[in-house]
Amino acid sequence: MGLEDRQRCDVLVIGGGNAALCAALSAAEAGAHVMLVESAPVHYRGGNSRHTRNMRTMHVGPLDVLSGEYDEEEYWQDLLKVTGGRTDERLARIAIAQTPGHVGWMKRHGVRFQPPLGGTLQLARTNAFFLGGGKALVNAYYAAAQALGVDVAYDAEVVDLEIRDGRFVAATVRHDNVERRIEASVMIAASGGFESNLDWLREAWGPAADNFLIRGTPYNTGRVLRLLLDGGAKSVGDPTQGHCVAIDARAPKFDGGIVTRVDAVSLGIVVNTRAERFYDEGEDFWPKRYAIWGRLIAGQPDQLAFVIIDAKSIGRFMPPVYPPMRAPSIAQLAPMLGLDAGALERTVSRFNAAVRPGTFDHTVLDDCCTEGLAPPKTHWARRIDTAPFYAYPLRPGLTFTYLGVGIDERARLLMQDDTPAQNIYAAGEISAGSILGQGYLAGIGMAIGTTFGRIAGEEAAQHVRE
Ligand SMILES: Cc1cc2nc3c(=O)[nH]c(=O)nc-3n(C[C@H](O)[C@H](O)[C@H](O)COP(=O)(O)OP(=O)(O)OC[C@H]3O[C@@H](n4cnc5c(N)ncnc54)[C@H](O)[C@@H]3O)c2cc1C
Repeated sequence: MGLEDRQRCDVLVIGGGNAALCAALSAAEAGAHVMLVESAPVHYRGGNSRHTRNMRTMHVGPLDVLSGEYDEEEYWQDLLKVTGGRTDERLARIAIAQTPGHVGWMKRHGVRFQPPLGGTLQLARTNAFFLGGGKALVNAYYAAAQALGVDVAYDAEVVDLEIRDGRFVAATVRHDNVERRIEASVMIAASGGFESNLDWLREAWGPAADNFLIRGTPYNTGRVLRLLLDGGAKSVGDPTQGHCVAIDARAPKFDGGIVTRVDAVSLGIVVNTRAERFYDEGEDFWPKRYAIWGRLIAGQPDQLAFVIIDAKSIGRFMPPVYPPMRAPSIAQLAPMLGLDAGALERTVSRFNAAVRPGTFDHTVLDDCCTEGLAPPKTHWARRIDTAPFYAYPLRPGLTFTYLGVGIDERARLLMQDDTPAQNIYAAGEISAGSILGQGYLAGIGMAIGTTFGRIAGEEAAQHVRE
């Protein structure tokens, strides 16, 4: 059926990633006639969700591929720590508490799990990994949606919304260069953040944004987010906050995905274009710190930095897709990075001289640290003294933005006066800013999207029945 044949449905889901699919599946299973509009073409469907690998999942005993125990309180405390308290406890606890139930639901819809790999992001106890990654997950969900009779339109971008007094009336969808009006009893916005909108990023960050690389889909332009905010939705979060990691500076502008991330930071030192260190590389375990490094690099000259390691660290982190620069000495490595050789040698020597003897153990917060060095390296500090020497160039890699719309515990969109919209729901990145005021906890994006996507779908179907 072509989009022109479908002018009306019960539930219109905007977006084609995890949150949208969870919403569409839940609403269709509850008996609603669902239409899902995805702005990407079919081969790019699935938004940032197709790049994911795992979901952080609470469990009070072993659960599927998850070992040990990770209870609600520990999960919550982890979130509290990384967000520095900038989180909505009510919504966060809902997202957390529903995760154990997701595992069975996801499997019923075709998702398979696998034991995690080792390496710097060792998350065997806390994160359930998808077999085949996020791409396999979205493919499974699209197949399940098709089986349930969900109408899916690709290349279908929502370019306008008709909202009257907190009530959704219709969306204008551009498809095949033609704009069509689609009416629905309920609308669910699951169209991600605005991370791919370079003008909006520049507005928020200034010229530094021009040097950001976007790790995910080019289709998350924030158009629906802007329309909702202009239509009176409550705004949550700060436009300069987001998930931003250190990725290889040679990565493409969009969609480089997971393989461009560089996980070697805690094993070495990171210097800017002046060959100076600027932050404690060993502050905490990498899964709890990797998401601050994009932001740190964004604050450096030209938004460029370099991680320097020596032969001892090779094989101790997941190798990224680009090979490192390699040289027999620090002096020879420096010009390959465009750095002043003397300055880099001085930084490395000063670091080496400050390293105190300790027992290196990358799996615990070990006692290998520096003394009398600013900034310090508080764990995993080993001298950089064994040739060959290696470097990866780093740039801020923006994963997703946190500015979004407010929702309540039923995933209903909140208007500026805090009253829920009558028939509008939101889920996923577009509304994650309430829970993620700053910082990030690996795997919580999928937990938030799955929880509120499912809630939105069930609530939407209920609304249609009433
Ligand atoms: C490289 C990478 C790795 C990641 N790894 C993980 C991980 O392992 N675990 C984890 O929890 N999180 C991870 N994340 C974060 C995770 O991707 C998000 O938290 C989650 O996928 C958000 O899901 P979503 O459905 O809200 O957004 P998305 O999956 O991005 O979907 C948004 C959808 O909306 C569509 N869209 C946008 N605008 C419009 C419009 N105007 N009209 C119609 N459709 C529109 C887009 O095409 C897209 O399909 C990762 C992100 C990236 C980029």
